[in-house]
Amino acid sequence: ENKASLNFIESIIEEEIKEGKHGGEVYTRFPPEPNGYLHIGHAKSICLNFGLAQQYQGKCNLRFDDTNPSKEDQEYVDSIQEDVKWLGFEWEGEPKYTSDYFDQLYDWAVQLIKEGKAYVDEQSAATIAEQKGTPTEPGKASPFRDRPVEESLALFEQMKNGELAEGAAVLRAKIDMANPNMHLRDPLMYRIINKAHHRTGDKWHIYPMYDYAHGQSDYLEGITNSICTLEFEVHRPLYEWFLGQVYSEGTKPEQREFARLNLSYTVMSKRKLLQLVEENVVSGWDDPRMPTISGLRRRGYTPESIRNFCKTIGVGRRENVIDVALLEFAVREHLNKITDRVMAVLNPVKLVIDNYPEGETEWLEAENNPEDENAGSRKLPFGKELYIEREDFMEDAPRKFFRLSLGKEVRLKNAYIIKGESVEKDADGNITTIHCTYDADSRSGSGTEASLRKVKGTLHWVAAEHALDAEVRLYDRLFSDEAPDGHKDKDFKAFLNPGSLKIITAKVEPSVSKYKPLDHVQFQRTGYFNIDPDSTEEKIVFNRTVGLRDSWGK
Ligand code: ATP
Ligand code: MG
Ligand code: MG
Repeated sequence: ENKASLNFIESIIEEEIKEGKHGGEVYTRFPPEPNGYLHIGHAKSICLNFGLAQQYQGKCNLRFDDTNPSKEDQEYVDSIQEDVKWLGFEWEGEPKYTSDYFDQLYDWAVQLIKEGKAYVDEQSAATIAEQKGTPTEPGKASPFRDRPVEESLALFEQMKNGELAEGAAVLRAKIDMANPNMHLRDPLMYRIINKAHHRTGDKWHIYPMYDYAHGQSDYLEGITNSICTLEFEVHRPLYEWFLGQVYSEGTKPEQREFARLNLSYTVMSKRKLLQLVEENVVSGWDDPRMPTISGLRRRGYTPESIRNFCKTIGVGRRENVIDVALLEFAVREHLNKITDRVMAVLNPVKLVIDNYPEGETEWLEAENNPEDENAGSRKLPFGKELYIEREDFMEDAPRKFFRLSLGKEVRLKNAYIIKGESVEKDADGNITTIHCTYDADSRSGSGTEASLRKVKGTLHWVAAEHALDAEVRLYDRLFSDEAPDGHKDKDFKAFLNPGSLKIITAKVEPSVSKYKPLDHVQFQRTGYFNIDPDSTEEKIVFNRTVGLRDSWGK
């Protein structure tokens, strides 16, 4: 493999393999907290961690970092597993849980107390925060810092047994109140939370903090490379300190940091996404406008397109913001290869072919996907009365208008050449019907001279008698601001795009009734759509995944 094309983590790993470090083994983990649904940012971490395991014949664990029962739920555990699998990845063995290690973590904490390296602090959280000092000024020691080991042991036991109220005491590591790295100023190891846990029930009343639990869990699982986002770089000395206290043999995991994914026109904090769900700004975590994996899936994104997107953006150590247009490009590119083309008219106006026989239906041959020779073809009904897009007709058209107008010819896709003749209007002057004539010798694929005639403009259409009415949900960006959560003076919800969902009824060719929920199609000349699970026998519902071209700002 070409060294220059490796990202920095791959370079490190290849170096480690060469040196025979960790016995040449690569073992990563993806550690979500089950307090929300996964989003596109998590996809970057998933592709990285599971991808490395695949690339180097290693392993990757799925570990639920379930250390805060007040925010976590089984619903999230289930959705996370579904989303990782859907993205195309397999974790090693059974899913792991930090809560599996609560006993071991507790025993290690007791050991640290006994060694004089941890103590129970009975001050309030506010007081502890005040005493932390500033990066240039040392912190102030807690009056409980040098309390006898026996006292801390007894209090820690009481904390564990639920004999103390939430906030009454915490366990802190005794490290260095003057360290320039604030994270080493006697960080919290445990706090009291008197809530049932989705897995351990009411066994515990104390829960370990991320910094204490994470590295130890990595060690217990034999993780070689513990990959996290850049904001944890300053936590690394603490990760190593905790590990150093308990490490005896085997793999010593190493923390590595990469730049998180930031995407324009959306928010990715789970807390903010939860707010959108709880306040019914969106229909749920899987609303097709959400940046969640489940939202993207429902919107019509494919696992391949998300993986390709992650490959394109790469993995580095510099923070940046990725244009959401890049994500849209990735799905457009994949759907172009795999979708059947179908005819759908989103804003229909009636078209009558005056010289076409009354009551006749012709079944025309239409190719399903010009990008895929195995996709076959289908039969399309054609008749005297059709629908075309209102925007595809102008009474008095400028010269460059290569669609239908009076006296001008266009081709109806897979059918005939027609010529605009006259219009009918309602009392307000709106066109209700367009009349045209057709050239009966010009049928596409018939091989006649007329069929080979070149006309400027090809329109999509559906036959009025056979068309199905479909609900079409047209999505736009959920936020109208590039960085909705980047404003100091305004809440991110001030930037919600009021036009992010428009629902219309479209006329669609009848062949679409064969598709199932989440199937993808291209509506010719319009965009990529998929079938929403809200569809019923009576009503088919489509979501617009993405337009055919980037039309943002038009
Ligand atoms: P949030 O702040 O939205 O709650 P989180 O980082 O707390 O996200 P976790 O469930 O802890 O969410 O994340 C699991 C893993 O996914 C972590 O290793 C984290 O680094 C990674 N991750 C989360 N968000 C992103 C992102 N935007 N880009 C890349 N990786 C991410
Ligand atoms: Mg987290
Ligand atoms: Mg978080």
